[in-house]
Amino acid sequence: MAKLTVEDLDLEGKKVLMRVDFNVPIKDGVIGNDNRIVAALKTIQYVTDKGGRAILLSHLGRIKKEEDKPALSMRPVAERLSNLLNKPVTFVPTTEGTQLEDAINGLNNGDVLVMENTRYEDVVNGEYVKRESGNDPELGKYWASLGDVFVNDAFGTAHRAHASNVGIASNMPQAAAGFLMEKEIKFIGEAVDNPVHPFVAILGGAKVSDKIGVINNLLSKADKVIVGGGMTYTFYAAQGMTIGNSLVEVDKIDLAKEILDKAGDKLVLPIDSVVAKEFNNDAEHKIVEGNIPDGYMALDIGPKSVDLFKDVLKDAKTVVWNGPMGVFEMSNYAKGTLEVGEFLGTLTDATTIVGGGDSTAAVQQLGVGDRLTHISTGGGASLEYLEGKTLPGIASISDK
Ligand code: ADP
Ligand code: MG
Repeated sequence: MAKLTVEDLDLEGKKVLMRVDFNVPIKDGVIGNDNRIVAALKTIQYVTDKGGRAILLSHLGRIKKEEDKPALSMRPVAERLSNLLNKPVTFVPTTEGTQLEDAINGLNNGDVLVMENTRYEDVVNGEYVKRESGNDPELGKYWASLGDVFVNDAFGTAHRAHASNVGIASNMPQAAAGFLMEKEIKFIGEAVDNPVHPFVAILGGAKVSDKIGVINNLLSKADKVIVGGGMTYTFYAAQGMTIGNSLVEVDKIDLAKEILDKAGDKLVLPIDSVVAKEFNNDAEHKIVEGNIPDGYMALDIGPKSVDLFKDVLKDAKTVVWNGPMGVFEMSNYAKGTLEVGEFLGTLTDATTIVGGGDSTAAVQQLGVGDRLTHISTGGGASLEYLEGKTLPGIASISDK
């Protein structure tokens, strides 16, 4: 890999600024799901084991006014981290100034410090000034001055140029990827730039409009592109099929036609659907082939589509999956997503990658994530990466 990683750094005795993704769900000061903190442990532990002094920065939620701050303090996160690491973690309730600087200067090798939510800097003196989110050059420079080296392990914000990722990196002699970031670059980056063929993309989810960039980029790279989920029915409409009350983007039908023409038999659409009378798990539902009848909406792919997709996928060496095959949140419409996920788990010779917020949630909720090669830690970031865009957070990491 062409990017510097944490393993390339000399960490002993160094003040190691680390941008991590601690953007966990939090309500009334209680953390809902600490997956992201757990995921960050590997890089943090590596740094402290090597004698580094870890100074952790992360954003948490969005801050637009002063009153948003208390509920989005990093304090509970620092406490949870301390439990998970089973050692003390210093929490500093500010993002700049002597209190922070003194705490950093007081660290010993192997110590861990968490500073307050980086987005506290988005509101200063009651004004929404976006110093963090707008990558204020002074802020990035200031934070960089607090450390000796920088490790970026926050893939989830890699598609944004903020002071705490790009700002720090551009003011540091060395910026390296942490293990999570390295894995994202290795799997998503490789799949997009240099995939092992046959390369099959599976694209689903709700809307064509959200996925145009991904469809176009992957059509140019993949051997087959499977389409499922809600966007199927805009493609059906483009082919002159009936779609009943299914999800459709009328203003994207022409675009869907263009994509169909361009893609030819590279694009594989579902041949049957689970259709329901209402958007409701308990609604009357059945399986139909082809056209969607009046009074019904298609909420999942049907069993023949699953078989068709398995046939397309069986010899794949690289599979990238974004977008569920149906409304997986409702048990009666989760089967298509579940069966595609289970089948991917059997492809032991293939690299299987899942990206996208809801897609990641779907494979985890359905329990099919364990046998896949890589489940991305970023939602929006993985989509932009799959679109073939340069992500500023990755671009700002030093080359080897
Ligand atoms: P991701 O976040 O992984 O990029 P999307 O946000 O594009 O995925 O799509 C996820 C949503 O698509 C889910 O909430 C799911 O319920 C919805 N969806 C999938 N299939 C259908 C369908 N046939 N009709 C309506 N919604 C659908
Ligand atoms: Mg989504």
